[in-house]
Amino acid sequence: MSKYIFVTGGVVSSVGKGITVASIGTILKSRGLSVSVQKLDPYLNVDPGTMSPYQHGEVFVTQDGAETDLDLGNYERFIDINLTQDSNITSGQIYSSVIAKERRGDFLGGTIQVVPHVTNEIKDRFKRLAEKSKADVILIEVGGTVGDIEGLPFLEAIRQMRKDAGRDNVLYIHVTLLPYLNSTQELKTKPTQHSVNELRRIGIQPDVIICRSDYPIPDNLRDKISLFCDVEKEAVIPLPTVPTVYEVPLVLEQEGLGTLIADKLCLEVKGKDLSEWRGMVTRLKEPHEPVNICLVGKYVELEDSYYSVREALKHASLYHNREMRLSWVHAEQLEKMGDIDPCLRIAQGIIVPGGFGVRGIEGMVKAARYARINRIPYLGLCLGMQVMVIEFARYTFNSSRPDSTEFDPTTPYPVIDLMLDQKTVASKGHTMRLGNYPCQLVNGTRASDAYGQDLVQERHRHRYEFNNNFRQALQEKGLVLSGLSPDGRLVEICEVADNPWMVACQFHPEFGSRPNRPHPLFRDFIGVAKDVLREGAQPALPLSS
Ligand code: GLN
Repeated sequence: MSKYIFVTGGVVSSVGKGITVASIGTILKSRGLSVSVQKLDPYLNVDPGTMSPYQHGEVFVTQDGAETDLDLGNYERFIDINLTQDSNITSGQIYSSVIAKERRGDFLGGTIQVVPHVTNEIKDRFKRLAEKSKADVILIEVGGTVGDIEGLPFLEAIRQMRKDAGRDNVLYIHVTLLPYLNSTQELKTKPTQHSVNELRRIGIQPDVIICRSDYPIPDNLRDKISLFCDVEKEAVIPLPTVPTVYEVPLVLEQEGLGTLIADKLCLEVKGKDLSEWRGMVTRLKEPHEPVNICLVGKYVELEDSYYSVREALKHASLYHNREMRLSWVHAEQLEKMGDIDPCLRIAQGIIVPGGFGVRGIEGMVKAARYARINRIPYLGLCLGMQVMVIEFARYTFNSSRPDSTEFDPTTPYPVIDLMLDQKTVASKGHTMRLGNYPCQLVNGTRASDAYGQDLVQERHRHRYEFNNNFRQALQEKGLVLSGLSPDGRLVEICEVADNPWMVACQFHPEFGSRPNRPHPLFRDFIGVAKDVLREGAQPALPLSS
């Protein structure tokens, strides 16, 4: 039977709860335990797929095609597992399911209420993941902060779980922040006391309190929190800010959290081995020669929009013993500039990630042209592939008109067009081509050299595709189609022959990258970029807005 760990957050959001949960997963897995994870998001959207990156950051796509919270990316990277749609539950999903059951007549005669109908539905999702994954431990993160109105049904459901699953099988961990007051130069515990009181009011007494802070936490504060919050001192775990998030599992382990959890849940552990992770963190913190990458996108003001891309670049740079220096370049800024060289002068590699809508597209096309003409390594991800094809077609046909019908529905050269099965789709939620699809690699290409395999599975999230009517003309001019769907119908990867490494894919390789196992395309992109010399390179111009 699985044991459950529920993690709540107090005081403020963005305190690093997701990284903490992922890190607990790392230290449990290092003890030979199997772990699965679930994120509960209290908002009413069914999934984040319809939200703007400005609202939500990146949408993380699972292999089975669920559009999920970016924390799932951290869980996958830290625990090295592949999650499914069962790992992200939203209030929207819970309520739609309860209402659908009511309409079907499942509760005939009953009044449908938050307790027990909504809370039962939530608990069913916990139990379903436990049954399907058969994991020793199910880690469940409650999104938001204790005290949020919309989070209450989730908190009530996790409270009930202690009785449902049994006392020894459930553990509550509360992650809080100790704010620092400059005037008195001290860390304060009062907000933590308040948020623990709020939890207790609901009926949850935390077993462990993890205290985030930007400064080292003195021992007497642990005593104080222990006293006021009724938690043993060893269960008050300090978590000061560390230089890299990948260090968090090591800090938690050092503070004894792994042993504490194993004891409290009576878990049978099989050894303990964090050596590979520790080695990775040691290398990450060593000084390395930099590799300068420019990321050209439209949501660059919010780095979370490209969370997995940034992490994948880090993993690949670490593989080559380089420090990834990423410059965020606003696509719209490039659009307005005549000469974009000052913005990209530093780039040893250019990356154009995914995105939707016409804003900033011309800036991205300019960046792709700059990469092609100056022979700078280029990696295009989804929209980044479409942009590369548009740019190459403008060069091939010597015209400014080639485009995607997403951006110019009347273009005479629709080199990127809506996929056939998308033409009848009107609804926006969960209707893209999503999740894993196979891709057959073409021998002798850069993509096939990178993968060293004939057939790969990669995660997708798109509606538009390479228009096959233009295959021949573009190939004749030097565009190489290096990955195709097994039936040959869809172009999944293409590359520009006359460039050291200009490769773009219709899928999202960033989701599959791991700290100790960079994705092959990212690995080879950085492998070539690191040796590119840029004369007179200056740090890229700061964003204008
Ligand atoms: N907007 C493009 C499409 O729908 C690209 C999507 C993406 O980059 N994820 O095909």
